[in-house]
Amino acid sequence: MPEIRGVGIGLGVAQGPVARMSEPLAAPTDEPSELSVDEETSRVAAAVEAVARELEQRGEQAGGAARDVLEAQAMMAEDPMLADEVAARIAQGKNGEWAVHDAFAAFRDQLTAIGGYLGERAADLDDVAQRVIAHLRGVPAPGVPDPGHPFVLIAKDLAPADTALLDLDKVLALVTTEGGPTSHTAILAREKSIVAVVGAGGASQLSDGETVIVDAAAGVVVTSPSDDELTRAERRAAERAEAASAPITDGALADGTAIPLLANLGNPKGAADAVALGAEGVGLFRTEFLFLSSSQAPTIEQQREAYIELLQAFPGKKVVVRVLDAGADKPLAFLNDAHEENPALGLRGIRALQASEDILREQLTALAEADAATSADLWVMAPMVATVDEAAYFTDLARDYGIKTAGVMVEVPAAALLADRVLAVSDFASIGTNDLTQYTMAADRLLGSVAGFQDPWHPAVLRLIKDVGSAGATLGKPVGICGEAAADPLLAVVLVGLGATSLSMAPTALADVRATLLDHTFDDARKIAEAALSAADAASARTAAHQAAAHTKETQQ
Ligand code: PEP
Ligand code: MG
Repeated sequence: MPEIRGVGIGLGVAQGPVARMSEPLAAPTDEPSELSVDEETSRVAAAVEAVARELEQRGEQAGGAARDVLEAQAMMAEDPMLADEVAARIAQGKNGEWAVHDAFAAFRDQLTAIGGYLGERAADLDDVAQRVIAHLRGVPAPGVPDPGHPFVLIAKDLAPADTALLDLDKVLALVTTEGGPTSHTAILAREKSIVAVVGAGGASQLSDGETVIVDAAAGVVVTSPSDDELTRAERRAAERAEAASAPITDGALADGTAIPLLANLGNPKGAADAVALGAEGVGLFRTEFLFLSSSQAPTIEQQREAYIELLQAFPGKKVVVRVLDAGADKPLAFLNDAHEENPALGLRGIRALQASEDILREQLTALAEADAATSADLWVMAPMVATVDEAAYFTDLARDYGIKTAGVMVEVPAAALLADRVLAVSDFASIGTNDLTQYTMAADRLLGSVAGFQDPWHPAVLRLIKDVGSAGATLGKPVGICGEAAADPLLAVVLVGLGATSLSMAPTALADVRATLLDHTFDDARKIAEAALSAADAASARTAAHQAAAHTKETQQ
């Protein structure tokens, strides 16, 4: 079973025949225009306008997040800076197609060089350019194929205009050869619950009509699958469908041990969906997401309003709010705008807050006021804590403001190694497995070239989690998990076996994790965790846990 690796979005699995996105248009040649400068300029302006209106119309039809994306793309098309760049090329006697191609490419390169979120918008710009050029040539814009039967769509990186109008009855799964977990393909696949694997470079070799299995949970596309593999994939897809429609109960193991299942949120607007999917509260509210585009620190009033909206959605329930986690992948100019060679190792998280204590004090004020105005059970925690001093500094300060439950995130190995001392001064710990993996494996979580190291199944990461779990058990303090690891159903069982007392994840992952926990007792979870811990690397830990889980299930029957 040859496999093509990529990054899975969600946990779904699907199979079917491949259909590839139509090839992009041939690049325009640098011929001089036969029209006057004015004629050529207005020809291009008309094409740009037509494309922008078409994008808006598609957005209108699609609604939801797709509309915002398409409207943003329409605005991009009509960006005056781009229009000036195109006009400057036409003024030099270039033809309209080439002027559009060249000006958009220059802008695209600038975005790519900036990288991160803006870099991933580069594909949107390419799509707009292609549409304008197709319009100028009077040919259809490249788009989603229509083979007349359901298919697995293979594309370089889907443009929002295409994803928005995907016919979900026809598209069994999405595979992109480029794009990362924050590309629009990924964002929209998550929103629409489409099985997707992104950044799977090898998929460019697939041909139309060949059958593949797209396994998002494993982040692979299986080519030439055997009958056995197809049957297993079908069974898993059916199990997932069953899990999704199973009654929503509180998180618990087979022996009744309660494991509260909580939601990770970045905006109070996500609360209603989380509640509908059975979140028993919030395990991580990322406050920095509210202020990523602000150049100035948010006011107490702005913050209080947002926190009240969040807390009101969870009356009587636990809501863990994290104070601003600035730096590296989440830059906040008002907290640290210094250039750092290694921002992940720089002045981030609690370090940045300690350096700008006024901002931290204002945030704690807003949180305490929101707490007083609502009836949720508010817990507050600090990100990127590395030392016992930092933990004591934060929890003391939070308590000064009347925060009743103050804790820390364990995402730096130093904090995990001294978890007993860190927990002695904190009310709880929440393990951020994304950063804990990044720092344990010394692999930047944003860097594709070292993505293979970013695997929370690695026994080195698991051992640190166990240390924190054991310290929590000894001191009687809760230890939650709020990194992506909690959303992997079997890893969730392992984490519980290592001592996690609650699990927090993207709300769409709740159903799968809930169903898998119900398959195992606490004793099973400990045995499965032990099997993973004894492995030498992430892949064998995963395999060992699967075998141990199958064995414990067999002995139960
Ligand atoms: C983590 O690091 O695991 C975590 C939950 O925080 P973030 O992903 O926001 O850094
Ligand atoms: Mg983190």
